[in-house]
Amino acid sequence: MNAPYLPDLSLKGKIRRRLTRLASRKLLPTIDQKYISFSFDDFPKSSAIAGAQSLEDKGLHGTFYACTGQFGQSNHFGELCSSDDIERLFAAGHEIGCHTQNHIDCAVSPPAVVQMEIQRNRAVLSALGISNADTFAFPYGDVSFTSKKALADKFATLRGVQPGINRKGSDANQLLAVPIEGDIDNLQYIKNFFEQLDAKNGWLIFYSHDVRAKFSRWGCSPALLRAVINEAIARNYIIAPVTSIYSQIQERQIK
Ligand SMILES: [Zn+2]
Repeated sequence: MNAPYLPDLSLKGKIRRRLTRLASRKLLPTIDQKYISFSFDDFPKSSAIAGAQSLEDKGLHGTFYACTGQFGQSNHFGELCSSDDIERLFAAGHEIGCHTQNHIDCAVSPPAVVQMEIQRNRAVLSALGISNADTFAFPYGDVSFTSKKALADKFATLRGVQPGINRKGSDANQLLAVPIEGDIDNLQYIKNFFEQLDAKNGWLIFYSHDVRAKFSRWGCSPALLRAVINEAIARNYIIAPVTSIYSQIQERQIK
């Protein structure tokens, strides 16, 4: 198996990520509730099954960012999702988002390639009956000025991987998101964000990858995911998929 691709970790890459945060922004209005979204990137079969199940057991739904060119493949996340997984998740009430057809790095890919990857990603989802895929997560969390601008016109929300809580003035075109990674001993890392949310309203978006006992560096154990879900329920947060929360924030702004 090939080593996982890593985005540009150089100083140049870091500066570009910082600068793109200032471009093509769509600022969130005041958020007067405590919102949580659970999301899964890529996504492997383990999150489609174990991850989804732990939400469904509590009557909740998540957002699954799909790379539709990876059906039937395996990588460091284990076996990846199939079209059947996507259909089942969507039928169960989960949101399916876009994540490019082939998990390309949008920071280094020419705009024409990014456009084509989105078109294909959407075409496959559309053929599966999902015509409203309105949220996108940047593979590797990485993005350039041009690709951010191109994607901003096509989706209601774009999600990155910079940790933090989204509040008034946060960018809906580069939403902050907190990783759920590792085992139960990482619960305190998550609780720190819950405490920040308790102190001030906002929208906390989680993301993970594989959900299994032998999780990857970017995945988590089923026990950690369940503990985070239980903790969010105990704290009475509003929990829903990304586009649902984004709509709720917009609607409350209009009222
Ligand atoms: Zn990804």
